[in-house]
Amino acid sequence: MGAHVVILGAGVGGQVAAHALRRRLGSGHRITVVERDPQHAFAPSFLWVMTGARTPGQVTSPLAKLLARGVNLHEGEVSAIDVAGRRVETSRGSLEFDFLVVALGAELAADAVPGLSGRSHSYYSLEGATRLKPALDALGNGAKVAVLVAGLPYKCPGAPHEGAMLIADYLRRRRRIDVSVDLFTPEPQPLPVAGPALGGAVAAMLQSRGVGFHPLHKVASIADRVLAFDNGASVPFDLLVAIPPHRSPSVVRTSGLANEAGWISVDRRTLETRAEGVLAIGDITAVQIPGRWKPDVPLLLPKAGVFAHAEALVAAERVAAAALGQPCDTTFCGDGFCMLEAGGGAAGVAYGDFFAEPAPEVRVRDIGAAWHLGKVLFEQWWLSPQGARRAVLGAALRAGSRLTGVPVRL
Ligand SMILES: Cc1cc2nc3c(=O)[nH]c(=O)nc-3n(C[C@H](O)[C@H](O)[C@H](O)COP(=O)(O)OP(=O)(O)OC[C@H]3O[C@@H](n4cnc5c(N)ncnc54)[C@H](O)[C@@H]3O)c2cc1C
Repeated sequence: MGAHVVILGAGVGGQVAAHALRRRLGSGHRITVVERDPQHAFAPSFLWVMTGARTPGQVTSPLAKLLARGVNLHEGEVSAIDVAGRRVETSRGSLEFDFLVVALGAELAADAVPGLSGRSHSYYSLEGATRLKPALDALGNGAKVAVLVAGLPYKCPGAPHEGAMLIADYLRRRRRIDVSVDLFTPEPQPLPVAGPALGGAVAAMLQSRGVGFHPLHKVASIADRVLAFDNGASVPFDLLVAIPPHRSPSVVRTSGLANEAGWISVDRRTLETRAEGVLAIGDITAVQIPGRWKPDVPLLLPKAGVFAHAEALVAAERVAAAALGQPCDTTFCGDGFCMLEAGGGAAGVAYGDFFAEPAPEVRVRDIGAAWHLGKVLFEQWWLSPQGARRAVLGAALRAGSRLTGVPVRL
């Protein structure tokens, strides 16, 4: 009898894993994806929803349309993961598994900072990005916009910088005079995991787009239109745009799979958890990489779709081989890239090897229209159902990857 592979979550990692498994395993093996949201939203495009370049309908698609034939969709909320009993409980019943891939992502936890929910906007959700556009439109001359990283870790280390640059560009195009856009973060530099050279390049990008950058600013409290920081600084604002703190879904925290911080520690090459036949991928994981934040604190791989995607391909290959009783030497190599929208139809790109010793090696390329077009192409590929259009877009992305050396794996 074939194996039953259950994948929890049908976001980036879950969808890629499901498709790769379906390609690799014959129909005697069952693949089931459990997801509570029937509508899939492509998060990188939320930034374009914020500026009106996309409508919410243009960045979402019914999940059933995106999933490959032969992948079962179990629509429901995962309420318990019983690793020892090899079963998961959902709002629609229970599922037994031979192999489990946990891809439940990270949740936004605005309630973790008092005053944040009621006093801020956020483009980290589709609803938030949709509400933010009219709030930007309502700003007058001289308005102060604060973009705040309210907690670590957060997904997509580039997105706060992109958001700040796009907001500044949008307001400039709407001819708002003397508007200021400032980005505050507890981090010591932009994208600290990628090293000082990349941090300096992104800081220069922010400056060239008129965004003030304020590192080492950890928010302490938020009162009416004033941000107070741990370092004693106090900053007035007219519009607060926050990247809320993130946390893992409670079902993971109670599963026995999570570490003290709530994330699932995995072997960084194989994506295996400490439970046999249970792998974890994407934002839910804590993946240690070479290098140190501080002497006693290791670096962790950033939470990003590009890593969820690459990890899913590896996890699928390993699970398929195990299901077929075959050996497998496919491992995750830590390559990644990030296109940073700068506004005006241009973007920068950073890419490299996050497993390099003794610390990640990341390159950055100058801002240009080509990187923005690459991001649009990827969006269109991602939101296209399996079929001819998706195949053509995939071929174009692969050709672009060969031409530029940016490691895009589909
Ligand atoms: C504004 C923004 C811009 C971004 N831009 C980029 C970018 O340019 N490049 C990049 O690489 N990354 C980007 N990211 C990050 C990227 O979207 C995430 O890192 C990626 O989606 C992680 O994939 P995942 O599969 O781990 O989790 P997700 O894609 O979040 O999927 C998790 C899924 O699990 C489901 N789920 C959770 N709990 C349950 C439950 N109990 N029961 C059932 N289902 C459940 C959720 O509904 C969700 O569909 C961006 C993120 C944001 C917010």
